[in-house]
Amino acid sequence: MPTSPDRKSSADDFYASLKERASAIEGRYRSLTPESARLNEEAQSFQPGGSTRDAVLRQPYAPFFSGGEGGWVTDADGRRITDLWFNASSLPLGYGDPGVLAAVHEQLSRGTAFFGPTEPDVEFARLLCQRLTSAERVRFTNSGTEAVMVAIQIARGLTGREGIAKFEGSYHGTYDDVFWSVATGSLDVGPVDRPVPIVGSLGVPPDPSRTLVLPFNELGATEKLLEANAHRIAALLVEPVPHRMGLIRPEPGFLEGLRAICDRHGMVLIFDEVIAFRVGYHGAQGLFGVKPDLTVLGKIIGGGFPAGAVVGRTEVMAVTEPNRAKRVPHFGTFSANPVSMVAGKATMEALTPGVFRGLNDSGERIRRELRRICEGLPLRVTGVGSLFKINATDLTIRDYRTALTVDRRWQELASLALLNEGFFLTTKLHGCVSLATTEEQIENFLSAFERLVRGGT
Ligand code: PMP
Repeated sequence: MPTSPDRKSSADDFYASLKERASAIEGRYRSLTPESARLNEEAQSFQPGGSTRDAVLRQPYAPFFSGGEGGWVTDADGRRITDLWFNASSLPLGYGDPGVLAAVHEQLSRGTAFFGPTEPDVEFARLLCQRLTSAERVRFTNSGTEAVMVAIQIARGLTGREGIAKFEGSYHGTYDDVFWSVATGSLDVGPVDRPVPIVGSLGVPPDPSRTLVLPFNELGATEKLLEANAHRIAALLVEPVPHRMGLIRPEPGFLEGLRAICDRHGMVLIFDEVIAFRVGYHGAQGLFGVKPDLTVLGKIIGGGFPAGAVVGRTEVMAVTEPNRAKRVPHFGTFSANPVSMVAGKATMEALTPGVFRGLNDSGERIRRELRRICEGLPLRVTGVGSLFKINATDLTIRDYRTALTVDRRWQELASLALLNEGFFLTTKLHGCVSLATTEEQIENFLSAFERLVRGGT
């Protein structure tokens, strides 16, 4: 990634011009959000860091939310904010969709949880099998993390091998064997053809023997590493649209190559579509035309309620069949919870092929406009479907290594400055649109972003 000294210094000058305004941006945020500040103070006394979810934290503190309607959220100080992240992309219809609310209200009056299966879970499982070409059987979970955990156990049960291969920079939840090489810090990541596995938590045993870390979009190196370790690898886990690398696309032939390697070596190919299911009616596997053995789902399939799923081929999922002597058991007091099931089904039914086209057209338009605004600046716009991300780097992002080059402080400050203007994105500038997002909200966001990069906001 050679960057010429001149280019680097002009990029640094650009980033510095926003950083010089850091205290003004933070001061304005504090003056707009006194109630969030008070709640944050109080939360610190009861929850480490002031929140249960590390991902929502930001400096100087996160905004607390009190409501959502359509494409808007209201914060604890009563400000109406255009939401461009929708609880980590999980609400494709926006807040308070009437169809979802009606389904949920009806289910609430019938009962919220039973010690037995319900019709909604059968119907929803059928819908998922119709949508995803690789899905023939479904097991519901409470979250994406849990779905990953179950999928890995299924792969181990099927192959009799223990190891898991994953890509550096991919987050798949905090389950021990996948919580490796996740954080985008400037750690020593090793050579690209032999990434160093970096444990993601003090709570994970730092023994890398069960996790093989691979370089995304580097098929040759990936193939060599997998071939050398094939005898011990049960599953290859891949995000078709890796979130922390910038919601980027796999290069042509990459996913097809992974499919072929797994076939050759008897490894289970698992697609993590917890986010990527949002990119099209048939998910990322439909968009890219590659069939995994198992797919893990989450986020949008809960329709705003907690849900996850492992779906896959009958022969693979058969390892969980209850009538087998040796198997992979799977339980869960709230798995296939009927409220989540009806909310998820109402959401997915509203997401027709035409609705996906509209959402993706909006995403495409935002990326195009952002690219126009960013022309000549050290900013790169990435994303697929209705998902987008602004990256503070002048390099093309194609993997974890290039994603590591971003100026994180610039991104955080830009995110806070946009929040002051009434637009909510992540601190790393991930965004997405929902069906409820209006043209006017998009126009206003683009204008606010243009003012920001021209030094006006
Ligand atoms: N996989 C991916 C690709 C994700 O983005 C996430 C959550 N951001 C997870 C797994 C974990 O899902 P959950 O937060 O529902 O446990």
